[in-house]
Amino acid sequence: MYKKRFFFILSLIIIFTAAFFHLSKTHLLKHDIESLNNLKNIVPVAIIGSGPAGSSGAIFSARGLYHTVVFQGPYPGGQLTRTMRVENWPGTISASGSEIIETIKKQAQNFGAIFSNETITKVDFSSWPFKLWTDSGKQINALTVIIATGGVPKKLNIPGEEEYFGKGVAVCGICDAAFHKGQIVTVVGSGDAAMQEAELLAKFAKKVIIIVGKESPHATAIMKEQIKNIPNIELLLNTMATKIIGDGKTVTQIEIEDNTTKQKKLLDIGAAFVGIGQTPNTKIFKNQVPMNKKGFINVICNTQNTTIDGIYAAGTAVHKKFTKAISGAGDAVKAAISAMNFLEHLELNQFLKEHDSKLYRPLTNDIERIGKGKEFEEKILNSKKASIVIFYSSSCATCNYALSLLDQLSPHFKEKYNFFKIEKKNLQDVAQKYNITSLPSILLFKDGKLELNIEGKITKEELEEFLES
Ligand SMILES: Cc1cc2nc3c(=O)[nH]c(=O)nc-3n(C[C@H](O)[C@H](O)[C@H](O)COP(=O)(O)OP(=O)(O)OC[C@H]3O[C@@H](n4cnc5c(N)ncnc54)[C@H](O)[C@@H]3O)c2cc1C
Repeated sequence: MYKKRFFFILSLIIIFTAAFFHLSKTHLLKHDIESLNNLKNIVPVAIIGSGPAGSSGAIFSARGLYHTVVFQGPYPGGQLTRTMRVENWPGTISASGSEIIETIKKQAQNFGAIFSNETITKVDFSSWPFKLWTDSGKQINALTVIIATGGVPKKLNIPGEEEYFGKGVAVCGICDAAFHKGQIVTVVGSGDAAMQEAELLAKFAKKVIIIVGKESPHATAIMKEQIKNIPNIELLLNTMATKIIGDGKTVTQIEIEDNTTKQKKLLDIGAAFVGIGQTPNTKIFKNQVPMNKKGFINVICNTQNTTIDGIYAAGTAVHKKFTKAISGAGDAVKAAISAMNFLEHLELNQFLKEHDSKLYRPLTNDIERIGKGKEFEEKILNSKKASIVIFYSSSCATCNYALSLLDQLSPHFKEKYNFFKIEKKNLQDVAQKYNITSLPSILLFKDGKLELNIEGKITKEELEEFLES
């Protein structure tokens, strides 16, 4: 009886404290519409991140006729672009992650959303309008912000992991399990998430080997009990994964090492799942919005609101159990609707109509795609103007980054070059002719001849230097 009463009173204290904190925080911000008169670079709905969450939110706010800018950041399209096959995006039986993201982006652009190639490097949410700084040195005055910066799956950092990422090395069991029917697969990890991945994979795979670095998994007791009862799951304790091996196309083996004996062994496998968690991309929001110890942003229950009115968070950046493309998209839709309600409440529509020239409109320059050998000949080899051509694969994250850099830098070099992009799988013979073995590869053509090339991971400074050459 006393216990019940104690918990009831404790719950009331928690609820009132949370409400007080929320109200006091939102109360601090003055929404002074007059102050907007003196500002430029205004963005009514600023979305930070262009993964399934950010891009989907943009459909709603842009369709609601609010000027929406999506800051795409270092990985345009987000994590989903790293997979060649998605079979759990509603309305699409099967498509590559890039195709899905491209469609969402087009849908949002059709309603007027602008996808900027900028990354947000700093924010200040202590007063309204909120301030965002971009990597191109601009200061944005955002009336609402949706944080959709996602996360990065933690890596093992072992040889072969990056090379075979998306080609047998995977981080999402529920997404990829069906592709490994009847195979032997490994899951590296020891927490609940890794156990859940293994449980799901066991429904498809012939055998699932969980590689645990310690004496025992640190998953909850119930999870460990469930795993024990699944006959095709084997726990390999006190063992580290040390290398991923493949045949160039897909993973074929994993090298493991016994922590005690230091003996190494090769296991034949069809896929290596990594389930050691995600790191949220939320560093720039530290001390700006409440987040948990791991850096996941806290939202107020059943909403995407943070404790600051006008700032919302969605997708993998938010602390929650479900981190799938569609759940992130759903979050962002809720965030976009809340952002629109916030703006409506401020009765800003007339002001925004009258001050259209104050709105921020970043340069966007989608590089022309070459898909046929004939086009390559006409537009690049026979052109009098020099051309910069990037060979890429839509499932390679470093390619997406290089593409976004090129997109960002190309307006500054448009007098000197024409810019093109070629997905390697579409023009294999051309790729072979120019000896394209690693991606991304950026080539400079002049007078029909290959003059220079640069390949692999590239920084903005290196690319600038290359274009200036
Ligand atoms: C290989 C692989 C396969 C997967 N398969 C599936 C699947 O089949 N089905 C499924 O539902 N899920 C799948 N997932 C999971 C899914 O991709 C994620 O749940 C989803 O992408 C999360 O979406 P998000 O928008 O929250 O974040 P992300 O996709 O991580 O996107 C984050 C975005 O934020 C941007 N960003 C980061 N920092 C900044 C900044 N400072 N300024 C501006 N922008 C910034 C990034 O550039 C990126 O655009 C898979 C994941 C991987 C890696």
